[in-house]
Amino acid sequence: MHREIDRAARIYVAGHNGLVGSAVVRRLQAAGFKNVLTASRQQLDLRDQGEVSHWFKANRPDYVYLVAGTVGGILANSTRPAEFIYDNMMIHGTVVHAAHEYGTKKLLYLGSSCIYPRQATQPITEDQLLTGPLEPTNEWYAIAKIAGIKLCQAYRRQYGCDFISAMPTNLYGPNDNFDLNSGHVLPALMRKFHDAKLAGAKSVEIWGTGSPMREFLHVDDLADACAFLMENYSDDSHINVGSGLDLSIHDLAEKVRSVVYPESELHFDKSKPDGTPRKVLDVTRLRDLGWAPKVDLDTGIRSTYQWLLDQQEVMNTPRGMQTVQVDG
Ligand code: GDP
Repeated sequence: MHREIDRAARIYVAGHNGLVGSAVVRRLQAAGFKNVLTASRQQLDLRDQGEVSHWFKANRPDYVYLVAGTVGGILANSTRPAEFIYDNMMIHGTVVHAAHEYGTKKLLYLGSSCIYPRQATQPITEDQLLTGPLEPTNEWYAIAKIAGIKLCQAYRRQYGCDFISAMPTNLYGPNDNFDLNSGHVLPALMRKFHDAKLAGAKSVEIWGTGSPMREFLHVDDLADACAFLMENYSDDSHINVGSGLDLSIHDLAEKVRSVVYPESELHFDKSKPDGTPRKVLDVTRLRDLGWAPKVDLDTGIRSTYQWLLDQQEVMNTPRGMQTVQVDG
């Protein structure tokens, strides 16, 4: 089913300042969409149903990319469980409900690959959802994300809403969170190698054993997949979005080292958690629909590091930006 979206349609990107939302906005603008709607946190608290319903009533989006959320890496997930479960459950609840109330034609909800059981068979097919216990380091976030999928299905079943869900693998790219405590592994490592290079430090600390396996997708590929799904997917079931390729954290660290600071050495801090041992998505369904990623990991690491360097240059100029957006 291919249904081309009118380039004049009103399209709301919830979470437009984050890693994913900013990429979706770039993608939509590049495709010629003229009415891309956004609202800052100051303008609209997505956890507040009254505010969200009011905003939908005033702005009447035809299509919604629900890519907002409180997100973070393994440490943030395990130390801020209340924020991760509350914020995400509320954001999904308010936006999905308002989209139904005010006649949104289609909504795409973005989950995460951490919704799957810790011991899922690899690569992970969509039908493994709710077949076993979750990884404890991110179960709060995962429960909220699972509730979001079910929310879309429930509104589809009861009210006939065309609400779909996509589950992306680990993402990276421009506007990522480069904070060492709250960020995910790829931006955190990039920043650690970069800081070590500036400080002339030899050794860079990698959390855990380095043996966990992770899959990565550049956020521009994810944004492209989201736009593709809006026009080509309309199913009750969620759909995986990934590259289908994984590597160990050790190998990832080697790649980042070779781009950022080849003279450094890796030091593994085994007192830090490894998290789930392996997490690679089965992307057969998406590939069968005709979509595949374009950015390979080596190219993506190089271009993201260049983006980080450019940002720092902007920040270091007197009239430059003072902050880098850090979360979704
Ligand atoms: P996860 O995919 O939900 O486990 O989240 P992360 O991206 O935060 O972590 C992925 C893996 O990278 C885990 O095994 C971490 O222990 C490991 N890792 C190694 N160094 C770092 C680091 O500096 N920051 C983060 N966030 N993870 C790291």
